[in-house]
This record gives sequence, C-alpha cells and structure tokens, in this order.
Amino acid sequence: MSTDTKAQDIVLPFQIDSLDVRGRILRLGPVLDTVLGKHDYPDAVSVQLAQLILTVTLLGNSVKFDGTFTAQTKSDGPLSMMVADFVTPGTVRGFAQFDRAAVEALGPSPNFAALVGKGYLAMTLDQGPETDRYQGIVALDGPDLAACAESYFRDSEQIPTTVRLAARKSPGGWHAGGLMIQHLPHGSAGPRSDGTGHLPDRTDEDHWSNARAKAMTATAEELVEPSLRPEELAWRLYHEDEVRVYPTLHIAFGCRCSRERISTMLARFSPEDRAHMAVDGRIGVTCEFCNTTYDFDPQAIEP
Ligand SMILES: [Zn+2]
Repeated sequence: MSTDTKAQDIVLPFQIDSLDVRGRILRLGPVLDTVLGKHDYPDAVSVQLAQLILTVTLLGNSVKFDGTFTAQTKSDGPLSMMVADFVTPGTVRGFAQFDRAAVEALGPSPNFAALVGKGYLAMTLDQGPETDRYQGIVALDGPDLAACAESYFRDSEQIPTTVRLAARKSPGGWHAGGLMIQHLPHGSAGPRSDGTGHLPDRTDEDHWSNARAKAMTATAEELVEPSLRPEELAWRLYHEDEVRVYPTLHIAFGCRCSRERISTMLARFSPEDRAHMAVDGRIGVTCEFCNTTYDFDPQAIEP
C-alpha cells in the first residue's frame, strides 16, 4: 500500500455549519516513531502514550493560545505516569513511567483500567512566566483515554465534545489517529447554510447527537490508516452535512531540553547536594522526554 507522507503528522481542522460543529482530524506517524523510538516501552504503554499525545495535540490545537499545553496522568496502576506536551504552533513530546513486569503480566492488549489503575488526568495551559497557569483535572475512570478527555471538556470547558483515539504499531512504524468534534454555542459556527437563522434548542440537540453518532462510526482502522487522507475521512463521515475543511497544520517532534537549562537547574542545588549526585566524579542527567544524557563535572557548575 502506498503511503502519502503528506497525510501524516498533520491536523485537519473542519467545520460543519449546519450542525454547529467544529472538529479536528489528527494523524501521527513519523513523529510517533521519533517519540517512541527514543525509549524501549512495551507496546501497551506506547499505545497509551500515543493516545495521550493525540489528546494534547487535539486540545492544544483547538484553543487559541501561545505556549505549552501539558497532559499528565498520575495513577496507582502499572502505568503510573504519562506526560505529553504540545507547544504552539505544533511541537510535541512525551514519556511514560511504568512497572515493566506488572505491565507485561497484563498481556499484549490490557484493559485501560487495569493498566492505569486509579488516578487523574491533569491538563495544564502555560503561556509563559508573566501569565497565570490554568489547570483542569479529571479522574482517570473512563473506559479509555478518549472518555477521560471527553470528561475534561464536559467538566472544565463545558463544551460538548466527542473524542476518538486509536494507535497501532505496524511493520512500517507507529500510526495513530484522533478525531475530535465540539458542539459550539448555537450559531457561533458561522452563518447557517440553510438560512433559517435561530432554531429551537430541540433541533440543536438533534444536530449534536447526529454529529456525535457519525463520529462514533469512524473505525480504529479509518482513524489510523495513512492511505485514507483526513479530508476523505471528514467527507466520508459528514458529506451529507456540507463539511468544510481548512488547510492542514504540521506537527513535529521537539524537545526543549538543553545543556544550559540543566546546568541552570543543577546550579540551584548546594555544592554538597551536587557532590551526592555525582557518580565516579560526574553528574549525569537524562532528559525523560528524549532520553538524551548530559554529563557534568560537579566542580565546574557555577551557582
Ligand atoms: Zn529532551
């Protein structure tokens, strides 16, 4: 099967005026190979981390802001923590912490609840040192990450939202796909194509359940398959509703770690603490996101 590389690592925004819905279709391929290739995670962990990266990218892409959107899970199961972040306009990274033996004991495709256990999903929006950080937290008690993301939108944003996520590993690498639709307050999706102006709320409800029912028909295969272009998927789901698509946006891998940043961090410790950190006279600091190790001489760090 031929793979159009242009249809990977992209977000396709779309809008359906007749249903007061806006949405995004996200496809990740080589970016995931880069993120996951820096680690040696069991596939069950990689699938969940891929879905968390999809979530934070869909979210970060749907909010107008400049800065970093971070999604973090913390829980008491074998997969005890995941972090994924999205930096505008489109850079992602992520890592996971887990108990390998306990994850592997659950088999190749473990149940989400058994894998993560009880805990929470926190979403943090950081627009820089001069601004307030915004954080929303939901319990990790859904059947999957998509359900938890929907709870986040319902509880924290009060926007009816449907999220679909899928990720798979194939011989050619990792492929993941996400679909998110949101029901906008009546009329804010733009001028109504039917020219009827304001409609009763009942119709509004019908519109949303119609849009949601169609989103639920997308299969995991359709969400991840690189040969099915996002535009084709949007058309397949919503061609009866006059879906409009916008130019796609590119997503790339990027880590913000650097020798300078880590040196600055080490300089905040006392010389005694730095001496304790040293092994054979050197301090090695490994970035959890990209697995790069930076090596320092403890004597050479200036406060
Ligand atoms: Zn890094």
